[in-house]
Amino acid sequence: MGWEEGGSGWRWRRRLWAWEEDGVRECVNLLNNVTLQENLQDHWRWLLDPIHGYSVRGTYRFLTSMDDQVIVVVNNDVWHKLVPTKVSLFAWRLLKDRIPTRSNLVRRHVIQPNENLCVGRCGCIETADHLFIGCDLFGSVWFLICHWIGFSCVFPGSVTNHYLQFSHLAGLPRVSHAFLKVIWLACVWTIWKERNNCIFKNAVIDPYNIVEKVKMNSFLWLSSNFVPIAFSFHDWWRHPLLCMGVV
Ligand SMILES: [Zn+2]
Repeated sequence: MGWEEGGSGWRWRRRLWAWEEDGVRECVNLLNNVTLQENLQDHWRWLLDPIHGYSVRGTYRFLTSMDDQVIVVVNNDVWHKLVPTKVSLFAWRLLKDRIPTRSNLVRRHVIQPNENLCVGRCGCIETADHLFIGCDLFGSVWFLICHWIGFSCVFPGSVTNHYLQFSHLAGLPRVSHAFLKVIWLACVWTIWKERNNCIFKNAVIDPYNIVEKVKMNSFLWLSSNFVPIAFSFHDWWRHPLLCMGVV
């Protein structure tokens, strides 16, 4: 494949090694404060409540109180140097539910309440969560994308949690996260454009066509902002995980 040949492949590998070195450094820093004691038995400790230990109630409280922090982290995360600013801006507005979906337009009295149905003709109200995740038509893009990457996954129904889960797909190494974020941003951007083409140009929506555009957009963004890139579009199209450095 492309990155096994020539000088650019060498630079690409050095970049991967640098990422791995960062991970080792982080691990060493975490262990710096650990003192090993021969006479003490190892045991698990629930850090959220070291005294009483694990409880479902405590875990529920932790998870529900995380929402605000998670939203702040995700909102900052979409400002990604590998994608065009207009795409990050769109994703930022999407995560804040500030894009002009039909349900939002009804809420602002721009269109009539009976005009709030999804453009995918599934009969559901067009909210952001529905359009990008729950819709039978547009939502199927994610299954096709996972198939392309080589993954199967059950995703949550909210856009924010979907972004978090997708960009950290089931424990894939950190080296892949930037690529997964680019793919996610390319997906929501392309879905929105296709949705608008359907409304304003009577275009027919084809999830397979959307996925091909996601592959192309993500590659173009990576190749123009992630210099030097050491794989071709064909490599990206055929073996995205290998291109991400996951072997
Ligand atoms: Zn729909």
